[in-house]
Amino acid sequence: MGKKAVVVGGSIAGVSCAHALSAAGWEVVVLEKSSSGPTGSPTGAGLGLDPLSCKIIHSWLGVGDGDGDSDPLFRATMPLSIEQNQATDVEKKMSWTLTRDEEFNFRAAHWVDLHALLLGSLPPQVTFLWGHYFTSFHLADDQGSVTLDAKVLQTGEIVQIVGDLLVAADGCLSSIRQTFLPLHKLRFGQVRIGLPYLRYAAYCAWRGVLNFTEIEDSETIQVKKMKEDAESIWLPELAHLMKSTPEPFVNVIYDSDPLDRLFWDNVVLVGDAAHPTTPHCVRSTNMSILDAAVLGKCLEKWGSEDLKSALNEYQSLRLPVVAKQVLHARRVGRIKQGLSLPDCKPFDAKKASVEDCFELQQKNVPFFSHIPDALLN
Ligand SMILES: Cc1cc2nc3c(=O)[nH]c(=O)nc-3n(C[C@H](O)[C@H](O)[C@H](O)COP(=O)(O)OP(=O)(O)OC[C@H]3O[C@@H](n4cnc5c(N)ncnc54)[C@H](O)[C@@H]3O)c2cc1C
Repeated sequence: MGKKAVVVGGSIAGVSCAHALSAAGWEVVVLEKSSSGPTGSPTGAGLGLDPLSCKIIHSWLGVGDGDGDSDPLFRATMPLSIEQNQATDVEKKMSWTLTRDEEFNFRAAHWVDLHALLLGSLPPQVTFLWGHYFTSFHLADDQGSVTLDAKVLQTGEIVQIVGDLLVAADGCLSSIRQTFLPLHKLRFGQVRIGLPYLRYAAYCAWRGVLNFTEIEDSETIQVKKMKEDAESIWLPELAHLMKSTPEPFVNVIYDSDPLDRLFWDNVVLVGDAAHPTTPHCVRSTNMSILDAAVLGKCLEKWGSEDLKSALNEYQSLRLPVVAKQVLHARRVGRIKQGLSLPDCKPFDAKKASVEDCFELQQKNVPFFSHIPDALLN
């Protein structure tokens, strides 16, 4: 008499939900529009995993925290034991440390490696459908089930999938969230009190992975302008780094004012779909993993017959935490960029006191070492 969850999005939040929900006894189907998993190139994200995320992943992998070299998470990641904020004065050619946290105890991973690890360890009751583009859903009249339409990208065929729960793990531009919050559209620079708009977070970053084993890079036409722009926009050190990076790409970053709910009937938001955030507090991946773990525990606690209580508890545990963390990450971003703040002068790294730098430390992120009740037993 098991229940079935359909997860839209097979990135970190989606795969994490597949682990957590199958551990709670649910059958899980994941729909992912990409045609296959990433193949080896680590281009893109370098992720910081906090100790709680590592512990949760260990539980999904069935290994202990202290398994050392036989621990696949340990092998796929690097220690990130110190967190440091550094300032540079280009004119004086000086760099100095603003703050330093010696007991950081995070692990650093390439997105690809973490994704591969989570994907490769999924249990058999998870069906992962690559190349399936979710297009729409509708709820049964009694809200007992949800039916999804998805396009199989290779054949153009439309398939229908029925489940008891729809998990939206479709990222910061989530089309599922959009169904419930049609006003939650991208607005440049606009802030409206009371309505949570998706917000372009004031900058975009050029990103890429520099392969130190390659002496000369081969510039393509597409990246040529990006590299020329680097010369005029960035510090010489960054411009040099970007010029040496063979495949940079533009990664626009969004955040959003916190939502006031995370579920509607039997549709629930997780990961970036639930709380788009800027990267300044290394939270988004950790939040996604924690969302999944808490959702799984709530479903397990309330049993498949009481979905409403399970989703209510998930929301009450996660919403206050993610809301504060998103706003804190936004604030830290504004501090780091020297932008205006409502309660103090713009941060100036050259004049900043120890107290001024205090807020930059990761350990001051709200709920930094907090473990939700649902994960304690
Ligand atoms: C380019 C990039 C760089 C990043 N860098 C960092 C970083 O350095 N550090 C960090 O902590 N975090 C980083 N992040 C964020 C981090 O990867 C995410 O927070 C984390 O992966 C969890 O996000 P998510 O799974 O909720 O969403 P995403 O990772 O955005 O995944 C959403 C998934 O949904 C799929 N999808 C969307 N719509 C549909 C649809 N209609 N049908 C089927 N599938 C659909 C997408 O293909 C995608 O796989 C980065 C994200 C991106 C995109």
